[in-house]
Amino acid sequence: MTARILDGKTIAERVREDIAQQAKTLSAQGVQPCLAVILVGSDPASAVYVRNKVAACEKAGFRSLKFDYPADAEPAVVLAKIAELNADSSVHGILVQLPLPPQFDEDAVLEAILPTKDVDGFHAENFGMLLQGRESFYPCTPWGVMRMLQEENVKIEGAEAVIIGRSNIVGKPMAVMLLSKGATVTICHSKTKDLTAHLKRADIVVAAVGRPRFVTGAMLKPGAIVIDVGINRLPDGKLCGDVDFDSAKQVASLITPVPGGVGPMTITMLLANTLLSAQRAAAK
Ligand code: NDP
Repeated sequence: MTARILDGKTIAERVREDIAQQAKTLSAQGVQPCLAVILVGSDPASAVYVRNKVAACEKAGFRSLKFDYPADAEPAVVLAKIAELNADSSVHGILVQLPLPPQFDEDAVLEAILPTKDVDGFHAENFGMLLQGRESFYPCTPWGVMRMLQEENVKIEGAEAVIIGRSNIVGKPMAVMLLSKGATVTICHSKTKDLTAHLKRADIVVAAVGRPRFVTGAMLKPGAIVIDVGINRLPDGKLCGDVDFDSAKQVASLITPVPGGVGPMTITMLLANTLLSAQRAAAK
């Protein structure tokens, strides 16, 4: 079997066109979606992520605001900016690029953002709402995965889903989202005793480990749907996922590539959340 490629780039482009159209309509009514991005320090990867987010906003017809702080910034200064943005009704989404320098308490910073402007979906209140199956802002990466599965008409109800990774931003919310759609979900992590035994019975595999080519074709059930969230940089500078694409595609029925799979969907869902926030603000 050779897997079909789940092309995140094409899906992302289609979804972004739709978002841009809706943003145009909303702007014509006097509410232009606006995302504020805060970057602390000079981590090159974070700078690239922020640049991409700002560019995506502009392309979708959103307003974007960017605030840069040096690595030794006082947390109080950043918290004051968040408070100012919380109070500004023209700002619909606030995002603080992670990781933050060591003097910051990341949880405290994320919780300073109003849940109604938390378009990254990292606030504990939004995570609690997700757990309870209530409307909130969902974390962009797992929500992007759900959107890809939906676009491909993947049947989630009744499927055995195995997620590798239990982080707050990917693994745990991914599990909740798949569970809410009727999958039977197993979350594996570094203490899991026999990962292959779990993977061998998985109809849907989501790999969010942070280890290059960690999941091989030999570990998969024939016909599995394989979603590779991982983004790893190899010594030669190239990107690769957590799945060994070449061996996995011989066994899977559908597989996401890296790059060009989940990655483009993450920023797309950030735009979707910001648009949603603006629509909610306009409806008030
Ligand atoms: P974390 O480092 O927070 O979590 C990694 C998880 O993998 C942990 O739960 C860890 O287990 C588990 N793990 C590590 N080693 C093993 C092992 N040998 N066997 C089983 N499980 C293991 O990473 P993130 O969730 O933040 O990110 C995961 C990957 O996804 C990274 O490559 C990251 O770059 C990428 N990413 C991609 C995004 C995108 O837009 N495509 C967005 C966000 C992340 P334990 O908890 O026990 O330590």
